[in-house]
Amino acid sequence: MALDHAFLNAVRAALPSDALIEDEASRRTYECDGLTGRRSIPDLVIIPANADDVRAAVRLCHAHGVPFVARGAGTGLSGGSLPVAEGVVIGLSRLNQILEVDLVRGHVVVQPGVTNLAVTKAVSAAGWYYAPDPSSQQVCTIGGNVAENSGGAHCLKHGFTVNHVLSADVVLPDGELVTLSRDDTGPDLLGLFVGSEGTLGIVVSATLRLLRTPQAVRTWLAGFESTDKAGDAVSQIIGSGILPSAIEMMDALTIQAAEAVVSAGYPAGAGAVLLVEVDGPQIQVDDDSAAIEAICRSCGAFEMRAADTADERARLWKGRKSAFAAVGRISPNYYVQDGVVPRTKLPEVLRSIAALEVEHGLRIGNVFHAGDGNLHPLVLYDAAIEGQAELAERVAVKILDLCIAAGGSLTGEHGVGVDKACSMPKLFGADDLGVMLRVRDAIDPAGIANPGKVFPTPRLCGEVPGPYRVHPLESAGLADRF
Ligand SMILES: Cc1cc2nc3c(=O)[nH]c(=O)nc-3n(C[C@H](O)[C@H](O)[C@H](O)COP(=O)(O)OP(=O)(O)OC[C@H]3O[C@@H](n4cnc5c(N)ncnc54)[C@H](O)[C@@H]3O)c2cc1C
Repeated sequence: MALDHAFLNAVRAALPSDALIEDEASRRTYECDGLTGRRSIPDLVIIPANADDVRAAVRLCHAHGVPFVARGAGTGLSGGSLPVAEGVVIGLSRLNQILEVDLVRGHVVVQPGVTNLAVTKAVSAAGWYYAPDPSSQQVCTIGGNVAENSGGAHCLKHGFTVNHVLSADVVLPDGELVTLSRDDTGPDLLGLFVGSEGTLGIVVSATLRLLRTPQAVRTWLAGFESTDKAGDAVSQIIGSGILPSAIEMMDALTIQAAEAVVSAGYPAGAGAVLLVEVDGPQIQVDDDSAAIEAICRSCGAFEMRAADTADERARLWKGRKSAFAAVGRISPNYYVQDGVVPRTKLPEVLRSIAALEVEHGLRIGNVFHAGDGNLHPLVLYDAAIEGQAELAERVAVKILDLCIAAGGSLTGEHGVGVDKACSMPKLFGADDLGVMLRVRDAIDPAGIANPGKVFPTPRLCGEVPGPYRVHPLESAGLADRF
């Protein structure tokens, strides 16, 4: 779709020229996110310098019926920031200021383009931190985190982004600016907005809850001969009533890949390792540690090592945090899946994933948030070999089917985006989807905020080719139900 001249002229008149990216080569920079297999070049990129310019851009999109997609750092893994419906990308990278640090009330107010890690860096010297910690935290932004309700290794104990956003200023799809707060009476509209993947508006500032740095932290490395045994240990630790701040698992393939790059000291020949971290008062950390060691050994851990100092812990975590990048060295391409299963089903589902590996001849590595059953299978492939990219995608969908069949869900933290929209009907019936679409419709009746995401549409799912800019209820085949 080419943008019409009236819209372009209105945007050029309303916004400074340095906020507009119009030439094709520069627009290409915004054609994909972390889901590199899908690309879509925006017709126009707007990089506002402040919230007023975000409002001006959204108002014009609304007036001219032009779809818009908010973009943070573009690290999303479900294609959320792709302009699949064509139209405008609104990049929030220039709104990158920490506006307020209030340690008496234990919060910060930030613009959406502030990176996740910058929040903790701003308050760590004073003994505070921001708990949600996606592995992409050096780069990804708070706006993207809010839109995806992002998690991370330490969300097991402290909760996801939704548990840490106290309020947000949001530009609605018609350009109105509203403040959504936890303290609002009535329905939890802030909760609705967090995790809405850019489909309900653009967050232009957020107030985030901070936590005090714990008195003590201990990280355990446990080596097992198989993912079965490691999975069993995960269930038993949680079943015993201990709530570690993190339990992460890596399988043989990802251990080898990470060791080759960062030498984290993971045990040679292990079929799986667990990283189990506990934090809190020293006495609690000591008690929990003793119980965790006993449980892991009883489940067959052949090596256990504890790290107490920040340097020792950083070394152990380095392997986990570098795993995605390390796998890039052993395979030209890979597809990151994100599904959830009940913790007790981990061994069974991991066995089924291994069977898919054999059946389809593609290697699959597993590195994931085991404590909350959030799998991240990496399906390795070579895009230069004809058909392999499609095969990898099919295998990834089969993994999702396994998760759903095990009583789990189709995303733990990466969102539905464009990637999993077609899988939504596997988990939700037509009535459920209809209710979700009615909520969206109430806030964005024109369907211009990040269309083509989350909800299945005929063109996305390859059923009936057709335009995107069709009413969301209609495109989901639900127009007659309400
Ligand atoms: C190596 C790697 C590791 C990762 N690890 C994790 C992990 O551990 N946990 C996890 O949860 N995720 C992880 N991710 C996924 C990703 O980093 C998160 O989803 C992150 O929150 C995206 O932030 P972003 O700024 O890059 O957003 P983008 O990718 O730019 O956008 C993501 C979505 O948010 C919307 N959006 C962006 N800004 C705004 C805004 N201001 N207002 C409204 N909507 C907005 C976009 O429209 C899009 O739908 C990982 C990604 C990579 C590449």
